[in-house]
Amino acid sequence: MSDEELDKLAKQIVVCTRCELQRSRKKAVPGEGPTRAEIMLIGEGPGFHENEQGRPFVGAAGKFLDQLLEQAGVTRADVWITNVVKCRPPGNRDPLPEEVETCTSNYLQHQIRIVDPSIIVTLGRFSMGLFFKGAKITQVHGQMRKVADRFVIAMYHPAAALHQMSLKPAIMADFAKLPDLLKQARAELGKSARGQEEKKEEDHPKQMSLF
Ligand code: URA
Repeated sequence: MSDEELDKLAKQIVVCTRCELQRSRKKAVPGEGPTRAEIMLIGEGPGFHENEQGRPFVGAAGKFLDQLLEQAGVTRADVWITNVVKCRPPGNRDPLPEEVETCTSNYLQHQIRIVDPSIIVTLGRFSMGLFFKGAKITQVHGQMRKVADRFVIAMYHPAAALHQMSLKPAIMADFAKLPDLLKQARAELGKSARGQEEKKEEDHPKQMSLF
């Protein structure tokens, strides 16, 4: 059911004409990951390579993100990964407030509801701004807050650290805290990583062993 709902949204996203970003896009990028992932990562919007391939975080920022996740003991295959806006803003400009509003109300909010992650990691200030209203990324990066019934961790965008080398130590230190933050979030939500696996199994029951 959840898989079908996510597929349905993805099909709508790839042909979406709700905002101006559709004019310059090559491929929209709905997002990807296991349905009912425990962790959802939300970036800003597709860049050049994502626009070519229709997949999130496949360029230089994505490679750096993979390294940051690996250091934190999280693999890409375990997380649901998407963006605030699903089409590349021309020249990688910032998404406009109306583009963010249209895209999040029609797509991202539904993706969050369906995947129902316990923990959301925001990458960059646009994604952070959806949950930490009026906050400044320089002040809240690396912090975790409870928002409704899940935890949100604000991180710098990996691309920011690639463009501004002085940010690299901070983003690496923030991701190094991720395992502890995940433990804390799981404890407070009364879930274990194993509990999450059980939750996934309910969606895709294993075939009964004959032995
Ligand atoms: N930057 C983003 O915010 N998202 C991507 O998918 C790639 C780069």
